Amino acid sequence: MSIAKYISMHFLGITFATAVLMAVFITYFSDVAIDYDLKKQIRRESRYDYLNIGKVNGEVQVSDNFVYEDNEIIKVVLDAEGNLVAGSWPDVSLSELRPVMKIVREIDSGKVHYLVYDRSIVKRDETGRQQVIAYVRSMVDRAELSSGYRALKYASYICAGAIVVVSTILASIFSRHIVEPIKQICQTSEKIGLEQDLSQRIEYDGTFQEIEILAQANNRMLDRLEEMFERQKQFSSDVSHELKTPVAVIMAQCQYARKHIQDKKEFDEAITVIERQVKKTNAIISQFLQLSRLDQNRIHVDLEYVDLRDIVEEVCENEKLNDDKNIRLRLSLEKAEAKVDIGLIMTAVRNLVNNAIKYSEKDGTVDISLKKADGSVVLTVQDHGCGMSEDVKKHIFDRFYRADEARNSEGFGLGLSITARIAQLHSGRVTVESEEKKGSIFRLILPGTL
Ligand code: ADP
Repeated sequence: MSIAKYISMHFLGITFATAVLMAVFITYFSDVAIDYDLKKQIRRESRYDYLNIGKVNGEVQVSDNFVYEDNEIIKVVLDAEGNLVAGSWPDVSLSELRPVMKIVREIDSGKVHYLVYDRSIVKRDETGRQQVIAYVRSMVDRAELSSGYRALKYASYICAGAIVVVSTILASIFSRHIVEPIKQICQTSEKIGLEQDLSQRIEYDGTFQEIEILAQANNRMLDRLEEMFERQKQFSSDVSHELKTPVAVIMAQCQYARKHIQDKKEFDEAITVIERQVKKTNAIISQFLQLSRLDQNRIHVDLEYVDLRDIVEEVCENEKLNDDKNIRLRLSLEKAEAKVDIGLIMTAVRNLVNNAIKYSEKDGTVDISLKKADGSVVLTVQDHGCGMSEDVKKHIFDRFYRADEARNSEGFGLGLSITARIAQLHSGRVTVESEEKKGSIFRLILPGTL
């Protein structure tokens, strides 16, 4: 069901129920109020009639000032025995009623519903005694007297009905107003899905805060998706680009060998070239696989307490073995325990030390220190090599990024991405400070044990 329909229907239901309740209340309370008012009015009308009625020589006398009909109320004067003295009956059936004091009677004559009120006229006789000399009977056709009230009652019903109609129309207008932007969001999402165009964004400049938040959240999600998609595209094209070169070299060597090589020496040379390229290809593939496993959390992180000193020392010894630039590694290692995956941290440390050696001049020095600070363990790898510009620094953690001056060195621009991801998996981080031609300081910061 659409939201607009849902809101309209519920609103209609609520206003309808309210209108019915209103109608019941109007009917009940207006009947009570009308009754109360009519009875009060009929009583009031005969209040001063005693001034116009007297008894002279045993006869009831009605003065000319007596008003027989006023405000739809008809009055007759009866003597003490209940016989008509003055006035005329609006309905004969009313003449048969015995006078009854203090109450307003409701008499149904068949056609008309009458309210009847009898008021006794009490006066002193010649002996000074109080006695009833006559009755004034006031009669009114209930329908006549209450017609004004009824009109008011019906007007209230019409009002209640009008409220239902108006509020239903307003509800449908408002719900459309709310739903329209949501529809737009849906349409844009649909369009993105169909056209596979992640560059589209949802526009909303309306009044509703929640919808604005929804649109912003969607746009942020699209930003992220687009960025990830672009990165994925870039990544795939970088991988194929990196693999293309060694494969092309291998292919060329194979073709050359088949056509031209006759002696063993040349053959060995070709095999050596092929072997180097295969190693390179293999290295790219394994780094690439490692990064994608780290990205997809497909790697099992096996945490254990270790003294990072041991890891750093072992990495440095191995790196020294492969170093043909005679770099001096100066170590200053404190005991620093941390809960880490040994294999992964070893890879991260190796990448940093390897880079420091790679980007140092021949016979240079690399300072490696390990310290505990504020509950963290900080491994600092400082070289005095080529360093990097601010611009390069911004990109070194991007996949396959290599600064121009690094193009000729071995490496595919994946090492720092892997290192940063490993640090992240350990709730740590990698920072860098660098100055061109002066060197770089990389820090691997991991949470230490207390
Ligand atoms: P690579 O395998 O190319 O070294 P990395 O991801 O480890 O890839 O590094 C990315 C880029 O960052 C390098 O190509 C290089 O330009 C720069 N870089 C990394 N470490 C250093 C360093 N110690 N000194 C200067 N530049 C560095």
